[in-house]
Amino acid sequence: MGLTGIQIFKLLPKTNCGECDVPTCLAFAMNLASGKAELDSCPYVSDEAKEQLAEASAPPIRPVAIGAGERAFMAGGETVMFRHEKTFYNPTGLAALVPSDMDSEVLDKKLKEWNALQYERVGLNLRPELVALKDVNGDGSAFAAHAKKIAEGSEFGLILMSDNIDTMQAGVDACSFKKPLLYAATDDNAEDMGTLAKESDLPLAVKADSTDGLIALSDKLTGMGLKDLVLDSGSRDIKQIFEDQVVIRRAPLKAGNRSLGFPTITFPCDMASNLDMETVIASMLIAKYAGIVVMSDFRGDSLFPLLLQRLNIFTDPQRPMTVTEGIYEIGSPDENSPVLITTNFSLTYFIVSGEIEGSRVPSWLLIMDTEGLSVMTAWAAGKFSGDVAGIFVKKCGIADKIAHKKIIIPGYAASISGDLEEELPDWEIIIGPRDASLIPKSLKELA
Ligand code: SF4
Repeated sequence: MGLTGIQIFKLLPKTNCGECDVPTCLAFAMNLASGKAELDSCPYVSDEAKEQLAEASAPPIRPVAIGAGERAFMAGGETVMFRHEKTFYNPTGLAALVPSDMDSEVLDKKLKEWNALQYERVGLNLRPELVALKDVNGDGSAFAAHAKKIAEGSEFGLILMSDNIDTMQAGVDACSFKKPLLYAATDDNAEDMGTLAKESDLPLAVKADSTDGLIALSDKLTGMGLKDLVLDSGSRDIKQIFEDQVVIRRAPLKAGNRSLGFPTITFPCDMASNLDMETVIASMLIAKYAGIVVMSDFRGDSLFPLLLQRLNIFTDPQRPMTVTEGIYEIGSPDENSPVLITTNFSLTYFIVSGEIEGSRVPSWLLIMDTEGLSVMTAWAAGKFSGDVAGIFVKKCGIADKIAHKKIIIPGYAASISGDLEEELPDWEIIIGPRDASLIPKSLKELA
């Protein structure tokens, strides 16, 4: 249970020196209790107080690192129930299931196919992170061989799934360097699994039949010194799993229940008879509030929408996505190619650059930093005015790359043309179309 602001205040020096950027220790205590301040901001806290305060300043839902290398990711670490309250931080990990009796050649093929499922979107590489290897026959050597193959032959992180401690040990021996998640400690094996996870310094999933059962197991394992847990409430029923996810998210955030303050793992692969229905369930669980979803397979038509949904949910609603300011070459432009200018809102960039590409007219695209605002919003906020845009055009160096002085501005920013002419007196300002879909026609006419 986290400490209240008053409880924290009692542990602070009470000198009100203000070095923590708030005027009083009480204000700092309140900020610490609500997660708005870091304990390190006060240089005068005693070591004993630090120990007690560590609990209060720790994130209510522990961030748990899974995997190593390219696709390592963090689950948990969330601080709010709803994205609009602040933001969600750590995107739900996506895993595909591999039974341990899968033929080795089939596994090779699957890994190759799954590895190819990567998508470039708004400058980001969208891809799944995990393979969940499930022990289906107690064959430890087959389990270890597949774990080794996945760990060494792919970028995927691993979830090792077995109730049998010897099989799990074989899997850990084969791939511990990849920091797999061990699934799962239950009432029957908690001590053995807990010991293995602790000795191997690996995260451990905990499975129970209810949230009450999870609390008991989580307390037992944290009592053994384990810190990185992932929770499975055991339900494979859509309504119940939804309720469980909400309960597990609310408990640490709203009631200070640290026993449930861990990310969750869910199994759409066990909840539907086909991948389409699994995808629908996974979509619900990405929104509310799974740390990991395990699918029976990755297929482009199912995975891509999930990756996009995840991207949308886990971007900061207060910070628009942006692209870097600069000169972008579309096609292979030369000194006679047209020059267009727009804002650095990533969606604007991708729509405009896509239309230019579609026109097959090689062009220079100037992207100006407007703090991620779209054309009309940036114009209304004074961040895409004629004088500011003019200064950017002069500074960016486009004049050295072209033999003409013509620039196309967005139709929605036509009103900046006068000021832009004043700033760029020897340039011809051409007003482009309002609708990006008309850019190809406009470029072809100009050409
Ligand atoms: Fe109090 Fe520490 Fe902040 Fe000073 S820096 S006001 S002692 S909490």
